[in-house]
Amino acid sequence: MRGALGGPRVLLRRLREVMAEPVSAQERLDKIVVLIAANMVAEVCSVYVLRVDSTLELYATEGLNREAVHRTVMRSDEGLVGLVASEASPVNLSDAQAHPAFSYRPETGEEIYHSFLGVPILRAGNTLGVLVVQNRARRTYSEEEVEALQTTAMVLAEMIASGELAALAQPGAEPAVRRSLRLQGSVLNEGIALGHVVLHEPRVIITNFIADDIAKERARLESAITALRSDLDAMLEHGDVAEGGEHREVLEAYRMFAHDRGWVHKLEEAVLTGLTAEAAVERVQSDTRARMLRQTDPYLRERLHDLDDLTNRLLRQLLGRDHAPAREHLPENAIIVARSMGPAALLDYDRKRLRALVLEEGGPTSHVAIIARALGIAAVGEVNNAIGFVDSGDAVIVDATSGEVHIRPSPELEASYIERVRVRARRQLQYQALRDKPCVTRDGVEISLLLNAGLLVDLPHIEETGASGIGLFRTELQFMVAGQFPRAAEQVSLYRAVLDSAGRRPVTFRTLDVGGDKVLPYMRIIEEENPALGWRAIRLGLDRPALLRSQIRALLRAASGRELRVMFPMIAAVREFDEAKELVERELTYLRRHNYRLPERVEIGTMVEVPSLLYQLDELLERVDFLSVGSNDLAQFLFAADRGNPRVSTRFDDLSIPMLRALRSIAERGEAHGKPVTVCGEMASKTVGALALIALGYRKLSLVASAVGPVKAMALELDVGKAATLVKALISHRDGGGSIRDKLVAFAETEGIPL
Ligand code: PEP
Ligand code: MG
Repeated sequence: MRGALGGPRVLLRRLREVMAEPVSAQERLDKIVVLIAANMVAEVCSVYVLRVDSTLELYATEGLNREAVHRTVMRSDEGLVGLVASEASPVNLSDAQAHPAFSYRPETGEEIYHSFLGVPILRAGNTLGVLVVQNRARRTYSEEEVEALQTTAMVLAEMIASGELAALAQPGAEPAVRRSLRLQGSVLNEGIALGHVVLHEPRVIITNFIADDIAKERARLESAITALRSDLDAMLEHGDVAEGGEHREVLEAYRMFAHDRGWVHKLEEAVLTGLTAEAAVERVQSDTRARMLRQTDPYLRERLHDLDDLTNRLLRQLLGRDHAPAREHLPENAIIVARSMGPAALLDYDRKRLRALVLEEGGPTSHVAIIARALGIAAVGEVNNAIGFVDSGDAVIVDATSGEVHIRPSPELEASYIERVRVRARRQLQYQALRDKPCVTRDGVEISLLLNAGLLVDLPHIEETGASGIGLFRTELQFMVAGQFPRAAEQVSLYRAVLDSAGRRPVTFRTLDVGGDKVLPYMRIIEEENPALGWRAIRLGLDRPALLRSQIRALLRAASGRELRVMFPMIAAVREFDEAKELVERELTYLRRHNYRLPERVEIGTMVEVPSLLYQLDELLERVDFLSVGSNDLAQFLFAADRGNPRVSTRFDDLSIPMLRALRSIAERGEAHGKPVTVCGEMASKTVGALALIALGYRKLSLVASAVGPVKAMALELDVGKAATLVKALISHRDGGGSIRDKLVAFAETEGIPL
């Protein structure tokens, strides 16, 4: 067996010599196919390159008719070569012509060859071409031969990726490796950005593929694996699991793979074929990525992702690169591309240079999406294989209005986006001009526009937008981006900074809303069948009050001498509000006894986001100082439709009759009790949603910073009396619980209200 492996090593050594020769690209390819054919005792060796038009062109051959080179062009799903390309995996046949996919091209003269071995030329999981050997005799190529051909294909992948072959191509038929691409993802934060790719985990550039000394490479691989394993052990032991936003479970999966014999064996095999340790790791990774892209089972896909991550770590181990050197050399207009990212990692980048974020994973509710929103950068998630398609420095356009990512865009596309960005900027200027204008409707109704915030980076938005305060400060965000529980002093200083930057404007702090999808990386995850309906938010706070108590104390201390407004998330029964309020009273007593300076006033309220409160409004309103409607959760629970599940999250509109009726009764009861009611869910941040809410009687809306301008522009043109009459009539219709969105949009149009 070992003897057979001598072949590929000799081949790789000869290939290295050919790669270094000062010859033309065509000559080099011609020499390579001769070498491979000779080494594998094959009568034919051919290289097909995938072109920008998605066809495969014969670039070199030994054995087939030479005239066919650059003439034979096949669709990427045609014939056996197409099969190799589209499946991104080897095809090994002793009788190729008997295979249903076989397609005969007379110009090649390949009818006399029976056996066929084709392997994809892969880079980062992407097919760049196909490498084929053929023999007259009916034979099956051995596993070692398949392996050897795949290794050789790697060298070709680098040659194609280097751009060397572009000179051989007809215009419009260049190798696909640098082609323009349009990838589709989902919008995490709206915006449009043009810039250049920065890989969050820079691709390790391998310059040395071919080993001088195989024993040495084996030893390097072995010690890198050992180091990787002990790193993982140490991370798990120290509980230092928040690094990069990784959770314990993920690290445990990594550890399992790091000890997986199959994986280690594959790496060793690749080294034995004559690759350097890093090239071997890259080969295995490329195969993993190719499989990942074709895997539809979400569980297996996730495991392949883990394996891909682990391989990355191993590469860094081998080459001694640190975690994310990209952050220090950020170009202007940086567009970060990553598989996934913890929220803290995004905050490490220089905001001034950051334009957009593209993630392979990351749904709209992911934590990093929340940070992207706070930073106001365009962000798109769920972009399949984004990393595989780009290189650092590539031009890219992120259209986070449609979820499209354009890689290496054409000049025409770029020009049209530059124009769109200009138009958007002009609109922003118009909004800025409204900054100091009071938000009063056409019929004289004053609307208070507040901000949703949660991090220090949000604070400048108060001044920028001219908002009248913070209507929802999500305190959990600070806990989510931290590596460990923020200490009391850290909490006090954050809350104080928030109050300082708000000045005389009110700030409503919401106590920790963790659990459900809001996971703290350093907290043990409790498996629950339905986490959104589980042990979260105030439920956790009341059952294990130490954390909530320390947070309340921090809030009271931060607000000394000023007004403090606190509210509780996920209250489902009035009794829970009583208990939570009791905790505040007790902390007040404690601080008083210890001679702390107390807040000037403490206002205590609650979120209304669980439908059960709809039937306790009077009792609740007798107790609270204010209410704030969380329309995101209220809609989720009202319709029993998971807000994070795209299959159902858009099934029921916020502007549907049942939702609006629920909102109306909250507003009416609030008014009857003389208690202020705010809406702080996403609905208030959409112009048409805000229109409906104002029509229902809401006078305080808490919005994301970017919505303040558009919502104010809408409100300034609104006649509340007219809108209220319309909405009242529309929601009393007995029509099957449909949405009134279209009617509201039509109303806005006739009234000249900008939406
Ligand atoms: C809501 O549920 O509407 C809300 C504002 O809270 P969150 O989005 O943080 O759950
Ligand atoms: Mg909520």
